[in-house]
Amino acid sequence: MSHDYPPGRGRVSLEAAGIPIEGVSIAGHESFYKLPGFRTLLEFGRAPEDVLGFSTVCVSHGHLDHIAGLAHFASRRRLQGLPTARILVPAEAAPDATEWLRACERLERIEYDVEIVPVSPGDRVRLRNDLELAILPGRHRVPTVGFLFSEVRQKLLPELAGKGGREIAALRESGAPVTRREEIPLLAYPGDCGDEIFDACPELFRARVLLLECSFLLPEDRDRAREYAHIHLDDVLARADRFENEAVVLTHFSQRYDPDEIRRALRAIPEPLAERIMPFLP
Ligand SMILES: [Zn+2]
Ligand SMILES: [Zn+2]
Repeated sequence: MSHDYPPGRGRVSLEAAGIPIEGVSIAGHESFYKLPGFRTLLEFGRAPEDVLGFSTVCVSHGHLDHIAGLAHFASRRRLQGLPTARILVPAEAAPDATEWLRACERLERIEYDVEIVPVSPGDRVRLRNDLELAILPGRHRVPTVGFLFSEVRQKLLPELAGKGGREIAALRESGAPVTRREEIPLLAYPGDCGDEIFDACPELFRARVLLLECSFLLPEDRDRAREYAHIHLDDVLARADRFENEAVVLTHFSQRYDPDEIRRALRAIPEPLAERIMPFLP
């Protein structure tokens, strides 16, 4: 499969602060990230065999390197008789995504089992009892949203610490609150974005893992990054002291760079951020 990718680029599999991320991300070519721990797929530039089992898909925006796999995915799931999948897309892009799927259904004379779920910043989607997805604002050339996966815990109220189980059960029965909700931001992903994203969405700095596009790296590409609303390495350097994340996975590098060039460029990142940086490379 790797022969379809530029030299040294292609499938990546890594673990960032305990969170496994697998996929491909090459700007303008293809992006998808499998998050097996969350049973969720982020983006799909196309639909390779091993993503068909994911029934929740988060699509940040309509550029084809992120969404081209949609109809292919729907068609192949239908062929395999898999249950309804939900596809989260930015609300403004939902009508076009739906219309596109309808056209494909007509072309194929079949009905797909996918539900397009329009999402906007501030929306929340429960993935499991202990896992929630919040929709973040995006900043790109087309309607875009970001995604934040958080672990949800119910913690005993501090004033009840030391009380017996029976007493707490009685309180709960009486309807009194005994726990409070605690959210631990696990992974944030803003989709493709310009550097305005850091002001629009400061949550990015605080998630355990930040999956951040960094399409452009070299000084001669600064204007290109601005023009196409992508992150340039300089944008990361300018905020190097603000990243509180345990791991920052840099991804979506332009296909003009080979892996050695990418690794060389990333050496400009200073400590203590540098040791937490992981390039999304094979
Ligand atoms: Zn892209
Ligand atoms: Zn894009």
